[in-house]
Amino acid sequence: MTISVAEVIVDVAAYPVDRSFDYLIPDEMVSLIELGSRVKVQFGPRNVLGFVVALKEETDIPSEKIKPISQLLDIEPVLTSEMLQLAKWLKHETICFEIDALQVMLPSALRAKYEKFISLETDIDNLPEVLKPFFSQTSKVNYKDFEKNNLLHPLKTALKQKLVVLENVVKQKGQIKEVRKVQIADNTEILRDISNQISNRAKKQKVLIEWMMQHVGETMDPDTLYKETNTSSAVLQALIELGAAKFIQEEVYRDPFSKEVGHTKSLNLTEEQSTALQKITTAMENHQTETFLLHGITGSGKTEVYLQAISKCLNDGKEAIVLVPEISLTPQMTERFRSRFGELVAVMHSGLSVGEKYDEWRKVHQGKVKVVVGARSAIFAPFENVGIIILDEEHESTYKQEDNPRYHARDVAIWRGEYHKCPVILGSATPSLESYARAKKNVYSLLTLKERAMKQALPTVHIVDLREELKKGNRSMFSQELLESIESRLNKKEQTVLFLNRRGYSSFVLCRDCGTVLQCQNCDISLTYHRSNEKCKCHYCGYEIYVPKTCPQCQSEHIRFFGTGTQKVEEELYKFFPHARVLRMDVDTTKTKGSHEQILEAFGEGKADILLGTQMIAKGLDYPNITLVGVLSADTSLHLPDFRSAEKTFQLLTQVSGRAGRHEKKGEVVIQTYTPEHYAIELSKDQFYEPFYEREMMMRHQAGYPPYYYLALVQVSHEDVMMAADYAQKCVEWLRSNLSFNVSIIGPTAAGISRLQNRYRYQCLIKYKIEPELIPTLMQLIKLYRSEWIKKGILLSIDLDPTMI
Ligand code: ADP
Ligand code: ZN
Ligand code: ZN
Repeated sequence: MTISVAEVIVDVAAYPVDRSFDYLIPDEMVSLIELGSRVKVQFGPRNVLGFVVALKEETDIPSEKIKPISQLLDIEPVLTSEMLQLAKWLKHETICFEIDALQVMLPSALRAKYEKFISLETDIDNLPEVLKPFFSQTSKVNYKDFEKNNLLHPLKTALKQKLVVLENVVKQKGQIKEVRKVQIADNTEILRDISNQISNRAKKQKVLIEWMMQHVGETMDPDTLYKETNTSSAVLQALIELGAAKFIQEEVYRDPFSKEVGHTKSLNLTEEQSTALQKITTAMENHQTETFLLHGITGSGKTEVYLQAISKCLNDGKEAIVLVPEISLTPQMTERFRSRFGELVAVMHSGLSVGEKYDEWRKVHQGKVKVVVGARSAIFAPFENVGIIILDEEHESTYKQEDNPRYHARDVAIWRGEYHKCPVILGSATPSLESYARAKKNVYSLLTLKERAMKQALPTVHIVDLREELKKGNRSMFSQELLESIESRLNKKEQTVLFLNRRGYSSFVLCRDCGTVLQCQNCDISLTYHRSNEKCKCHYCGYEIYVPKTCPQCQSEHIRFFGTGTQKVEEELYKFFPHARVLRMDVDTTKTKGSHEQILEAFGEGKADILLGTQMIAKGLDYPNITLVGVLSADTSLHLPDFRSAEKTFQLLTQVSGRAGRHEKKGEVVIQTYTPEHYAIELSKDQFYEPFYEREMMMRHQAGYPPYYYLALVQVSHEDVMMAADYAQKCVEWLRSNLSFNVSIIGPTAAGISRLQNRYRYQCLIKYKIEPELIPTLMQLIKLYRSEWIKKGILLSIDLDPTMI
């Protein structure tokens, strides 16, 4: 018997039953198709994408009914068998379609239009005869040429032997970027002639032409030339007219690692660091699946521990995956890995173009790199011999994907750690309550770093009571103390970071006569005012309007914006310190690619005195001249309707404070708040994690929240408010009758944002400790939804362990 049937997961969402379908493998594809290959198959009237998840000899489908696979998309499988298993697990764990789980593991380039090429990796003489003619003129051949000539089998063998590699070239418009360069004439004679023509009085031209004669034929950036010769564009232009040089357009290949980095060696570890490393390496040596929680205060040198653990992993011939939150994936962070492991590192983050992301993925897929540093989705890096997995800042909520499949990278990391029998390291200065509780129960092994690596003292933290300021008649957003601290930094030429807790802090437009707040047409959300273009914008759906001259309700002219956005803070800052150089970092100033990095870099180079920003600046900033951190209002995030609000506030304050005084100069932190007595604020002062943990656990216990209980959120939406409410009620009834009495079901209630993009949203919350019936019950509910409700325009989503409720 031979393999002749493939089980295929097809890309057809909204099919009530999520299962694979059998397809016949046509003879010519027999030894080409593998597990994890993508194919095109006929499904109903359509030709759809599918993934081969199993191969077998026979099927129960009668031979007259079974359809053949219509096309094989990948001559090399794109998913490993590990990934296929992981997808099955994800489907169950997050209640998603298996196809969604498979798709999330792949770079989006594979869903875009691309062309396939085969490149020669060896001397042409090593190729089998049939392939040689293709490479006689070129080293890169279109895949179609092999397909047309029926040569896929020998091609596949050559791919397996790594004589050639497959390359997908994504078709993207506007991807090629060009820059203007100066090219100096490559003939010394000509340059000398020109030099002789130039009058001695044109001193600058003389200087430049002399210099050019030292750089015959070279191509360079005009700015470099001006700098080196101390000349200007006018001087250059004069010489260009004489024919000494010309401007050319040069194509820039966007290399995510465009900057050269130096090389760093392992540091001598502190005692705490080496104890931690020791435990990790022991687990590696024993091929032991073990999850470590590395709890180390800010600046304690967690990253150095990661780096040395990775070194060990590479020495053992294995690969490493490092996850960092998107926002802290700064050049500073990635450079630390690149400077240690050089070319062996691939970086994956959302700032890369589709093509660049694909390039990085391919380096991993083809085994050309050994370390991946990336945001959430890098957890699916297709390494086959993983030796360590690291999640830095493990408490970050961005590790949870808010869309199907709603996976948490931490769970996937632990799954892969078990698969590869390797340790997983969760690192944080402020671990999530869930992780710390697991460490206390010895589910995770706790490693602690209590001191900063270079024994620097933690910054001194002052908490300023804004109520007192108000009593003193200070109506500005800066307290006296903060103003004085900033001023002293300006005098000492040291740097200040000002942090605006943006959540709940954005500006809105309000009518002072009738109290109307401008709302989004499609969502139950106030519009946010943007001064730069005088527009109001919905941050959820993108709807925007110009600020009206009169109130839409009462026609009053007293309509104006309120609240404090970063732009407003910036303006006020200039009132107090007209000569300060301020850099602002928020969603508006970081829209274009690379701007985030540019702002940080400029600040690092001392091009500004004050960096003002939102959440974005809380992470990864590590510059020696930052000696003051100011938090404008610590409590805005405390009042959010979220059971994690205290935890998030504590984490944020600790992170932000950790930005000050990381090097020789002592740091100071000023936290302004209206509720200085709140434990999340008080305890963040000294980075007292443990007491905060105890206190917060007590609150969670009383209120019945995680980590004491698990949560599942079922959300229903419809364009019609009654329909949404009705079906939410149906869900609740259905859940009540199918789940045990130990489970509490809260709702239905209107969701936190009760209308989004013109859909009304209702939800119910399931709280449980142990409920074996939960997943099967939710699966049944999904089935009911997919087979009946969906036709009525209902959308239903289920989120296990939601990060937002
Ligand atoms: P964390 O990730 O815990 O916030 P980092 O790894 O960024 O801490 O370390 C803080 C600083 O201390 C960095 O500048 C790092 O280079 C330095 N550092 C870390 N470990 C050591 C060590 N063993 N000896 C000297 N300096 C160290
Ligand atoms: Zn009004
Ligand atoms: Zn909206």
